[in-house]
Order: sequence, then C-alpha cells, then structure tokens
Amino acid sequence: MTGQHRIVVLGAGYAGLAAAGRLAKKARGAEITVVDASSRFVERVRLHQQAAGQQIPVWDLRELLTSKKIHFVCARATKIDTEGKRVLLDNAMPLAYDALVYALGSIGDSNGVPGVAEHAYSVSTPADVDRFQPPRGRIVVVGAGSTGIELAAELAESQPDSRILLLSPDEPGAWLSPKARAHIRRTLERLGVEIHSDAKVIEVTDDGVRLADGSLIEAAATVWTAGFAVPDLAARSGIAVDRTGRVLTDPALRSLSHPEIHAAGDSAVVAGPGGRELRMACATALPTGKHAADAVVARLRGAEPGPLRFRYVMQCLSLGRHDAVVQLLRADDAPARIVLTGRTGAWVKERIVRGAGWTARH
Ligand SMILES: Cc1cc2nc3c(=O)[nH]c(=O)nc-3n(C[C@H](O)[C@H](O)[C@H](O)COP(=O)(O)OP(=O)(O)OC[C@H]3O[C@@H](n4cnc5c(N)ncnc54)[C@H](O)[C@@H]3O)c2cc1C
Repeated sequence: MTGQHRIVVLGAGYAGLAAAGRLAKKARGAEITVVDASSRFVERVRLHQQAAGQQIPVWDLRELLTSKKIHFVCARATKIDTEGKRVLLDNAMPLAYDALVYALGSIGDSNGVPGVAEHAYSVSTPADVDRFQPPRGRIVVVGAGSTGIELAAELAESQPDSRILLLSPDEPGAWLSPKARAHIRRTLERLGVEIHSDAKVIEVTDDGVRLADGSLIEAAATVWTAGFAVPDLAARSGIAVDRTGRVLTDPALRSLSHPEIHAAGDSAVVAGPGGRELRMACATALPTGKHAADAVVARLRGAEPGPLRFRYVMQCLSLGRHDAVVQLLRADDAPARIVLTGRTGAWVKERIVRGAGWTARH
C-alpha cells in the first residue's frame, strides 16, 4: 500500500459502515472517506419500533468514524463521474477516489400503485418514520412481508385501542416454514391484528385503500410496506445495473462495468448460494460490506480478490417486544424445520439486532 490511495464509501448503513470499519483496519495508510446524506446512524432494522413510538438507539456518524480515523462527509451524492473518478455532492466539493464502495441501501417503493406516494406512510427510512405519527383508530398496513408483519405486531402491542389491519395477497410469512407461519398468524391474532390475506390493494386514497375486488377499506392511516426500491444514482451515472437500478457485480462484488467500484448491501446484485441473488437484508449487507472492503484491499495490493462466500443461517421476525419467530435456514435461504418462538425467539432476535448494530459500528 503506497499510502496515497483514496477510498470513498457511499452510504453509512450496515453495508457502508461494515466496509469502512474493515478498510480502516486493513487498508492502512489509505485515505478513507464515508459519505452519507444523514449525520446519524439509525438501526434501520428497528424502524418499526420507532414507528410504534419507541426510542431507538442513534449514533453520531462523525464521532463514530473519526474515532477510527475515517473522514466523514455529510452530503448527498448527486452523481458519480466515473471518467474523472469523482463523486459529486450536493453541498461540498467533488470527492476524488481511486476505489469506491457503493452502499446506498434501499427506500420504500410504491410498486406503481396509485395514491401510495401521496397518501401512504412508509417505515423504510428514518426520514419516513419521522413523518409518521400513528393515529388512534384504524391503521392499515399493506404488505405481509417481514416489515409489514413486524410493524403490525408492534403497533398492535403499543396501541391496543387502535385497530390494526394487515393486508396482502398472501399469507403473512408465506416464504417461511408451516410452523413459523402458524406462529405468526396466532401471535398477530392474539395481539388483535386483523389479517386479510387475500387482499390486493390497487389504490390508496386519503380515506383508506381500494382492493382489486372493488371494496374500500377506510383507514385513519395507511402504511405501505409492500416493496423496496433503490436510489437511481448508479443508473444515472452510467454504471451497469439491473432493471431496478441495483449495481451488477462479479463474485468479488466488483461492478461489472467499472472494476474500481465495488457494491454491497441492498443496492447491489450479489449472487448467493445456488446462484440465487442475495435478498435485501441486514444479514446480507454486513458480510457483503466486509467483502467489498476486502476486495478493495486485495486490488490495491495488486492481488486478485476472492469470491464472496456466504450462507444463510436464520431469519428473525419480531412480533412485538415479547415474541418473535426465529426461522433457521438452509444455506440457500430455504426454511429448515427448526423454529424458535415466544420469549426465546424475542431474546434471540434482540441479540441479533444488537449484534448487527455493534458489527456495523465496530
Ligand atoms: C422496518 C425494517 C425492519 C427490518 N428488519 C430487518 C431484519 O430484522 N433483518 C434483516 O436482515 N433486515 C431487516 N431489514 C432490512 C435492512 O434494514 C436492510 O436490508 C439494510 O439496512 C440494508 O443495509 P444497507 O447498508 O444496504 O442500506 P441502508 O441501511 O439503507 O443504508 C444506506 C445508507 O445510504 C444513505 N444514502 C442513500 N442515498 C444516498 C445518497 N445519494 N447520498 C448519500 N447517502 C445516501 C442513506 O442515508 C443510508 O444511511 C429491515 C428493514 C426495515 C425498513
């Protein structure tokens, strides 16, 4: 390492922080700069808790990073000038790089359903949650993926006087084992959540949602959790992306079009076990962030970076503060038979969330 390499990490979520921390340890002598539009690291996997009125931990990024001798720039990246190897920022001078880690995460997606942008809330990002004040009365949660399930349970537990409806075309947790699915349904019902598992929402209005069968469900608030999108920065900057805008990568997480750029976390397409794309998760963001950093270091040392080796272990869904489902997984993400539930599940889930935050910060 010559000592003059400039490494820029875009995004200080789980992937970006994991990459930056690893670089600070391994790329000694390099100048490492992290850019994020926010000055705080919020544990995104707890946003449903914050939406239900709980205080969640928040860290000051500048403090966190400067203590590791990493520069921090609080700015929004507006373009990557791949020819000039510079990142253009909304409030500061362009940042030059020799290597770039692209880790801009994801945001809520309306899936093109009319009215979502205008009338629905989201819990996808800290800014979304800042806008959401759960009203008393009927709250419709659209989408029964992990975020919708966790949010419905959390709201029902913290606001027993409200009526929480969970709407989706599928059974909540449809991708999990029968035991996990049954526990999710039982627990949501115990908490008073009304489950509509054959409901396809085709429009959100100021008063509620319209379903494909023509019926209307009135709501004091609608929260849309049915899908994630990614920032369009890579696509706008001419970097090879898939149709959703995620950066296409090789097994070492290098951009297919720009080998000096590595991508990790939700905003990257990464091949996992069996060639299946890794799903968007904190559980994939942390190891891909670390691997992107290792690949940058290998390249700067003139070595060929190795492929990411990843296997799934478990998926944890909280069901309020006292219950959860911990689904053990096969290497390729298929559900195994073992499922932890109840207080044991909640204890494991809380440890995993704390551990993920700790890993990102350290
Ligand atoms: C409510 C909720 C619960 C979840 N629970 C779980 C869970 O239990 N387990 C799990 O594995 N996953 C969970 N997830 C998913 C998980 O949070 C994400 O997969 C993970 O945060 C992805 O990490 P990341 O680093 O790729 O992106 P992020 O954590 O989203 O970080 C991206 C960062 O990039 C910054 N950024 C974006 N655009 C710009 C720009 N143009 N310029 C500068 N900065 C920018 C953002 O400010 C952000 O800090 C949950 C998600 C939500 C919303």
